[in-house]
Amino acid sequence: MTLTFLPSAWSAKGFNCRPSGLLKLNLGEQVATQGSGILAGRYPHRPRLGEASPLKGARRIAGWIRPQVPEASDGILTSAGICEGFAGAGVSRSVLIFAGFAGLVAGTLAMGAVEYSKLRAERDRQVAQLATERVRLETAPDAELDELTKLYVSRGLSPDLARQVATELTTHDALAAHAEAEYGITSTSLTSPLRDALAMSAAFAAGAVLPWLAIVLIPGPSRAPVTFLIVLAALALTGWISARISDVHPMLPMVRTASIGGLSMLITYFAGKLLLP
Ligand SMILES: [Zn+2]
Repeated sequence: MTLTFLPSAWSAKGFNCRPSGLLKLNLGEQVATQGSGILAGRYPHRPRLGEASPLKGARRIAGWIRPQVPEASDGILTSAGICEGFAGAGVSRSVLIFAGFAGLVAGTLAMGAVEYSKLRAERDRQVAQLATERVRLETAPDAELDELTKLYVSRGLSPDLARQVATELTTHDALAAHAEAEYGITSTSLTSPLRDALAMSAAFAAGAVLPWLAIVLIPGPSRAPVTFLIVLAALALTGWISARISDVHPMLPMVRTASIGGLSMLITYFAGKLLLP
């Protein structure tokens, strides 16, 4: 049996580990038995370099869109709440335009700032853990090998097999092996604070602009109810996209997302009516 590990982007991420690439562990039937629920779960099969994968592009796009969908829903909900609230208060169109726009900008900036701070802290923690691990590997390699072996034993491998796995992974890329086993840090789990925060802000803004445009462009007294329906449809769409990406039946996520949004808009609309100037 051949297991293929591909800690591909470690060097590209700036860790200056040993050269990365494919590591094939020929562990025979032992791993086929012992590791079926352990290694297979921890290290799912990935296509080898150059291996054709027709779904690769679609998966990559889905992987990029997936974390942005909640932010887009957040943007739709926040903006719709502000717009409906001001519409309920019966303010003039110009005030409505300004209030909706201010909410859009403030929400987008807040989303970016909060996410950046959070991801920056996470990144700093990951970098500190890797630095500590690198020092340990240089100063106490034997103890580190024992530690890695124990980790694999605790996950169900026999001591001999755990030792073999730990030794081969250490030979290949010790830092990558320890980072993954001890901290769950992989090349793909490393955060990129600025990029991710910008992506989330953009998703929030893309969602928030919809209710604002609706409230700005729809004339007369039908403004609030038509915006309400447009927002419900948009939220149902985000529920559908989330469900399709997660490969679950879309009906429940669509109804749930739209219901929460509808309730939220009704509350803000009537809150606006109550606080009518
Ligand atoms: Zn370690």
